[in-house]
Amino acid sequence: MRTLPFDKEKLEEIAAKWPTPFHVYDAAAIRKNARRLKKAFAWNEGFREYFAVKAAPNPHLMKLLKEFSFGSDCSSMAELELAERVGNTGEDIMFTSNDTPAEEFQRAWELGAIINFDDITHWNYFRAAISGMGDTADRLGERVFCCRYNPGPLKGGNSIIGKPEEAKYGFTREQLFEAYATMKEAGVKRFGLHTMVASNELNHEYIIDTAKMLFALAQEIREKTGVSVEFVNIGGGIGIPYKPTDKAMDIEAVGEGIRAAYEEQIKAAGFGPVKLYMECGRSITGPYGYLVSRVRHLKNTYRLYAGLDACMSNLMRPALYGAYHEIVVPGKESSGETSVYDVTGSLCENNDKFAVQRVLPVLERGDLVVICDAGAHGHAMGFQYNGKLRSAELLLEEDGSVREIRRAETLDDYFATLDFSTL
Ligand SMILES: *Cc1c(COP(=O)(O)O)cnc(C)c1O
Repeated sequence: MRTLPFDKEKLEEIAAKWPTPFHVYDAAAIRKNARRLKKAFAWNEGFREYFAVKAAPNPHLMKLLKEFSFGSDCSSMAELELAERVGNTGEDIMFTSNDTPAEEFQRAWELGAIINFDDITHWNYFRAAISGMGDTADRLGERVFCCRYNPGPLKGGNSIIGKPEEAKYGFTREQLFEAYATMKEAGVKRFGLHTMVASNELNHEYIIDTAKMLFALAQEIREKTGVSVEFVNIGGGIGIPYKPTDKAMDIEAVGEGIRAAYEEQIKAAGFGPVKLYMECGRSITGPYGYLVSRVRHLKNTYRLYAGLDACMSNLMRPALYGAYHEIVVPGKESSGETSVYDVTGSLCENNDKFAVQRVLPVLERGDLVVICDAGAHGHAMGFQYNGKLRSAELLLEEDGSVREIRRAETLDDYFATLDFSTL
């Protein structure tokens, strides 16, 4: 059973001010985890985590992570704007997008972001996009450009992200060499190398192997094109233990494994220094965010159903990928009596279920229900289908106080894009 950073009494106190459903994040735990990550990679001078904004696009969370000098990994206009508003600009931003519109390249350029290309054709597209923006050619030499590598069949797959050769992202090896040579020729002087081949990966060897693959490739790029990359970015994708049987990623083992590879492939080879970047989202905030809801109805037909006041628009992962999320009923953790429930929301879609045939304490109407590991790709994936509104986001501070970091949507928000006067 999970230990929560609040008990039933505290939650009732919070719910008296912010009615359920809401998301609440544990600031102390996020900070502790951020410190741990930095420590595991402290051996690498210049190590940096660029938080994947899409996982939890809330400026208050981004600002909290900025205390640890985490940058922002952005892939859209809105994410670039969020980064700027929390004070992440220039090389605090890694712009890793795909199928990228010209306006986003322009905005990323304006902000001075590290621009990570997803495709070989994007270099010319980017050049054309920024051509009207002043003395751009001169500045090409100051900026950092990066290419995203897709190893194709050279690297095994992973269940969420799938096989690299079926993934839409990144360059082939041959395209990489060509792109670095072209950019060098155009006056670019600062380069990085990126890949993202994991998603919710719990095996630390997979992450270490990814770093090894990039270290070797960086060598080859230097040999073939004369370009020395100043960083390698191993992407995000570090998993979290959603299921009680999952084992958390041993981040210290990742740090040590990559350090050993660095000593051998970079240092001993007289190459470098090379900075190590990563852009994790899930592992940074995922385990420290909770969706808090209440039992609204209990229904006994062919199965027992517990209908909550939250639905899949608050947390889509179970409906989308059949993902498992631990459910805790505060105050009933040690009650011996259990029943088996399908825990549902109110959306008119039968997959709107947070859990299927889950053993839980016997529930009553009004019980608080906490859905764990909702701190990344949770609220962020919210939507308004069926007229459902997105909930508030709250931050539980280290001193026990609670702060609203996003208000709940209202019907006015839902109707804001409609003009009833032209009806
Ligand atoms: C989604 C994404 C991430 C973050 O992935 P997590 O699984 O949340 O760590 C990082 N980089 C890119 C390019 C992504 O698309």
